[in-house]
Amino acid sequence: MPVLVVGSIGLDDIKTTTEQHKSLLGGSASYAAIAASFFAPVRLVGIVGHDFPAEHKQLFLKRKIDLTGLTEAAGETFRWSGEYEADMNNRQTLGLNLGVFENYTPKLPESFLDTDFILLANGAPQLQAAVLDQLKSPKFVVADTMDLWITIANEPLRELIKRVNLLILNDSEAKAFTGLNNVIKAGQLLRTWGPQYVVIKKGEHGAILFGQEGLFAIPAFPLEEVFDPTGAGDCFAGGLVGYCASKGQADFETLKKALVQGTLIASFNVESFSTRRLDRLTENDLMQRAENFRKIAGLA
Ligand code: AMP
Repeated sequence: MPVLVVGSIGLDDIKTTTEQHKSLLGGSASYAAIAASFFAPVRLVGIVGHDFPAEHKQLFLKRKIDLTGLTEAAGETFRWSGEYEADMNNRQTLGLNLGVFENYTPKLPESFLDTDFILLANGAPQLQAAVLDQLKSPKFVVADTMDLWITIANEPLRELIKRVNLLILNDSEAKAFTGLNNVIKAGQLLRTWGPQYVVIKKGEHGAILFGQEGLFAIPAFPLEEVFDPTGAGDCFAGGLVGYCASKGQADFETLKKALVQGTLIASFNVESFSTRRLDRLTENDLMQRAENFRKIAGLA
């Protein structure tokens, strides 16, 4: 079954302690869509400006992503720049230019309205809600968010999560959103605010799934070297939803397996800048790492 992905599509300028790259393909929806495309057909919804390079669009097409919902407008493409410290868990945003993304209200193509599996990748909750308003009767809606929206759009975010099946956020965001210092308590509280399921990501320490059925926790895939962590969370969400769509279901047992697939695809993404590693990722690479991960994590 197809997955609809909406969010930012942009150009990233990224600096680590050893490398610096400009105008890389970035944006929450770009990473999520490419990750999801390893599991299911993807319908992308977003906006780019006149300066969006053709080679980036080619990457989406190479992954057979349906671009009917991609608007190309006069103006500048969303641009984000960030810098990582030696400890890559620490990142500073150096600049953000929303460009054509600023006043964008998505209008879904008719052919997308009946999509069942939806990923509202990181973006303003008002924009995420505008997409939900147009869909006929989605089966499984996942929303990703970030600290910015918890701070500047708290009420719209609280409204949005009443309408989603799964909310994904990282540990510091879960703590900031709930005002609780313990991630387990935070995950449980978030479920009472609307979503049937919550996933809290803990960076290199893995992720926890919260449901009525209980908890499920997995480690991250252990890597010796990370080149660029940008988009790991988006890839995790894309892989997770893509896997559910490939199975046509999203119950607790399916979600447990989906967490594994999200973790694996995110682990490949951080091995290179932008989506370059995913661009040359093969089914065989994924299968081999899945087998390795099952052994390491002691999964059946
Ligand atoms: P992550 O590393 O998972 O937090 O995702 C990083 C991606 O999010 C980058 O490619 C950015 O272009 C994108 N991004 C950064 N800030 C925002 C924002 N305010 N809204 C939407 N996307 C953003």
